[in-house]
Amino acid sequence: MEIAYLNGQWMPPSEAKVSVFDRGFMFGDGVYEVMPVYDGRIFTKAQHLARLARSQAEIGLAPVMSAEAWSTLLDEAVEKSGEAQALIYIQVTRGTAIERSHVYPDTPPTVFLTVTAFSPKTASEIQPLRVVTAEDIRWHRADIKVTSLIANGMIKNQALANGYDDAIMIRGDKVTEGTASNVFIVVNGEIITPPKSRWLLHGITRDEMIRAAADVGLSLREEDFDESRLSSASEIWLSSTGLELAPVGEVNDQRVGDGAPGPIWRQVFEGFQARKRLID
Ligand code: PMP
Repeated sequence: MEIAYLNGQWMPPSEAKVSVFDRGFMFGDGVYEVMPVYDGRIFTKAQHLARLARSQAEIGLAPVMSAEAWSTLLDEAVEKSGEAQALIYIQVTRGTAIERSHVYPDTPPTVFLTVTAFSPKTASEIQPLRVVTAEDIRWHRADIKVTSLIANGMIKNQALANGYDDAIMIRGDKVTEGTASNVFIVVNGEIITPPKSRWLLHGITRDEMIRAAADVGLSLREEDFDESRLSSASEIWLSSTGLELAPVGEVNDQRVGDGAPGPIWRQVFEGFQARKRLID
């Protein structure tokens, strides 16, 4: 059952309403978070709550509650939903202010969350993605998980309109990330992913894949690379909470390896599945 929480009240998602003067609506003035629930338990909860706290701090929004209070609230949300496999979406905005101003009002934040059923794909269900490269036209703080996703949406929808599944973004001479995912490549058997910076979201799944690669004894480097490395890579993957680890079969109409999910992808994917089973 889908459930929502809005400013202290539980309700069906369709009944959740905020004012049109909410700064989330007016200015995209808010942050969000998405975390997975596997077997009724929240995976990487502490990491997601730490990133939420960081996003809030970066936009100058005071903490709405302690990490412990968030943790209890999220556990309650999962229990109320009755969902064993789910995604929890949290949105925190700067709240409602009738006067339209760039100056931050002294209003309580809007706190909203939903729990939605989710079934991650199994290895045999996964189809390699066809992606295209696109200029990264976003702002200079892609590390903050802000609700205004307009540039990500524009790039993703342009890719879809051109017949691709997604886009990998390029800023200057560097590959940054997918429109809603982080990027990994395999070159000469070594896994490479761009380092954390202000140009990309510090994905929690990215961190987990780095740990999963270490768990299964693979070597991985966090290093910037340019677009030409995408065409020389034997494997390319996208990681996110919803995708977990998605292999890319084609980039810019050119096959990646033989186009099928690669052997290194399979090892890291399995390593990640093992980590999921270790939820404490
Ligand atoms: N980059 C962007 C732009 C994203 O939107 C997301 C997912 N929200 C990610 C990376 C992956 O982050 P995570 O692994 O924490 O879901």
